Amino acid sequence: MENVLIGLALNKNVRIYIADTTEVVEDARKAHDLYPTSAAALGRVIGAGGLMGLMLKDEGKLHITINGSGSIGTIMVSSNNKGEVKGFVSDNTIYLKRNSDGKLAVKEAVGTDGYLKVTKTGIKNNFTGSVKLVSGELGEDFAYYFMQSEQTPTIVSLGVLVNEDYSIKKSGALIIQLLPGHLESDIVYLENLLKEMKPITQLLSENEDLEKIVLTMFKDYEKQEYRSLKYYCDCNKERFMAGISTLPLTDILELKKENKIEVKCEYCNKLYEINKNDLEGIISYVENQRFGN
Ligand SMILES: [Zn+2]
Repeated sequence: MENVLIGLALNKNVRIYIADTTEVVEDARKAHDLYPTSAAALGRVIGAGGLMGLMLKDEGKLHITINGSGSIGTIMVSSNNKGEVKGFVSDNTIYLKRNSDGKLAVKEAVGTDGYLKVTKTGIKNNFTGSVKLVSGELGEDFAYYFMQSEQTPTIVSLGVLVNEDYSIKKSGALIIQLLPGHLESDIVYLENLLKEMKPITQLLSENEDLEKIVLTMFKDYEKQEYRSLKYYCDCNKERFMAGISTLPLTDILELKKENKIEVKCEYCNKLYEINKNDLEGIISYVENQRFGN
């Protein structure tokens, strides 16, 4: 399903990415049995990370790590230019609400004493950028990241609404970026837009048509393309075996004492069994590599 729309506005001085990530985040919720606040935090990062993956060229891969010293622990999301996105949080069982309005307390669960790190690989110039968390609500943190690490003034709106039964009611992401050559008046326009902008989940609830939503913000909006984001994990047994082969040889020999070991993919919770034969194969591979036989 095409759930992302990319386009230009303000005389092509801004680029707008808008996504309805409801299904993607629901798939993440099911994969990890996420409680509401864990789902909201991971869902917001999946929205931002999914769109940032689509911004990459070619075979680019994006990896986001966030840790704000809150109860949720670390949030990790990986994505690519094909629209595949996956992620997990250290603690999937956070259900924290704000006392003031009963909304999910994302900031309180994520914490604000920490960092947001983005790594891009598989592109011409691999890149790592890291900023301190400024809000913990995540949308503002990504906006701060774009400004500090990529020198791109950006509006980021992320949101996740969760039903009583913990399923995802609505989830969305909106990224508006000023392009090189923009005018002072474009900055003023975006500042005013930001002041009046409804939460992305409300916009998506009121209007299913992504193009119509953006047209309410920009009269000269020009759509470029529809894309799709999906929750997808590309793990396989070979990758885990390659991971084991990087361990010290003594550790691998120790593992072989068990008849078989099970490893679990953190992104999709799939279990892989590595048996004695597999481990012997890894050991002879490592010995050949290290001693050059
Ligand atoms: Zn996996």
